[in-house]
Amino acid sequence: MILLGLACSGEPVEPVPAVEPVADTRPVPTSPSIVLITIESTRADHLLQWGYARDTMSTVGVFSERGRRFDRAYSPAPWTLPSMASLFTGLRPSELGVVSAEHVVPDEASTLAEELSAVGYDTAFFGTNEFFDGHGLEQGFARYQNEVGASGLKTATAVRSYIDAREGTRPLFLAVHIFEPHCPYLAPKGLRGMHSEEPPGRMLTDVEWDAMGDCYRKDRDLGKTLAAYDEELMAADSVIDALWGAARPFRDDAIWIVTGDHGEAFWEHGDFGHGRQLDDEQIHVPLAVMGTGWHDVDERPVSTAWIAGSIREIAGLDPAGPTLGAPAAIVVSETSYDVERAVAISAEGRVLVDAETGVHVDGQVDEAAALAAIQVEARFTPQVRVVDEAVRARLRALGYAQ
Ligand SMILES: [Zn+2]
Repeated sequence: MILLGLACSGEPVEPVPAVEPVADTRPVPTSPSIVLITIESTRADHLLQWGYARDTMSTVGVFSERGRRFDRAYSPAPWTLPSMASLFTGLRPSELGVVSAEHVVPDEASTLAEELSAVGYDTAFFGTNEFFDGHGLEQGFARYQNEVGASGLKTATAVRSYIDAREGTRPLFLAVHIFEPHCPYLAPKGLRGMHSEEPPGRMLTDVEWDAMGDCYRKDRDLGKTLAAYDEELMAADSVIDALWGAARPFRDDAIWIVTGDHGEAFWEHGDFGHGRQLDDEQIHVPLAVMGTGWHDVDERPVSTAWIAGSIREIAGLDPAGPTLGAPAAIVVSETSYDVERAVAISAEGRVLVDAETGVHVDGQVDEAAALAAIQVEARFTPQVRVVDEAVRARLRALGYAQ
């Protein structure tokens, strides 16, 4: 029935104009789709291709062999929020002002998703970590789905539905965060217990056991806890395999970037889990890039924050900082989770600045690394100054510091 603008009362009403869809006038880029996969709490030395005995992540291994394997990639922070904020902008957490759980990526920050959307990309994020809610990480994503508690395979199914429903020819910037290796280490049934027959590891002390809390502790036998963690890495790898399947319409022409958001400690340096320390187990992560034409291994230290510069470059934008192909000489990682700490890593060594214990140099003394650490220390909360005057004077004499 056509009412012709007459309501039931008989009074004439204004006809409601049909809603015209807003035309998408953005250009359609010719640059490729980009898939950025970040995996929770994934330390590099628990993957076969990075020197581990078990083949925990065979799909990541294949990506690394078909593309470039970065042997020394470090996360910009040892916990999710600052690390992901850094990956999505290219800025260090302290530059961005995202160093505690209360912080939000500021609106004025320029995120990858915003920049790629502006030049015509479709943008989508799928994840299952609470830090992806309410922290400004959603900026620029036209589709943003964060379902805390959902499995990675459920996420992959959602990604497949999204991809299957897409129309048009725009390239896609797809970011997916996989939660599986985060504690508790409880892999899906098909994988659980796979390594339980391994020889026993060392027994955790009472102090360690009590410190770990319910989420992290699994078994007094540390070997069993590590085995359970490895099973979670395998579960995450199966999600990546499912994402590869979901992306079949464009996957062969896309750039694939896979990394960890940070590592995971198991008492190597007096700590467990992640967030507080900057030793390798908490910040050395796997990084594989496939689809750029690279077929090699890069042994230079790189920051996963430089992924942002590379993605901008792929999309034809100004990288606005170091890239994975043209890295800076120094990698910086930092945390304010417990004690304020910053580490500067060069090819030769590392300098750690620790608000409690001072400056620690490992390997060959590297003045540039020391300077980088000091520069980051300058962003610690104002009352924290740990680099002593003697060190500063030495750097000043070398022309490094003011
Ligand atoms: Zn994380």
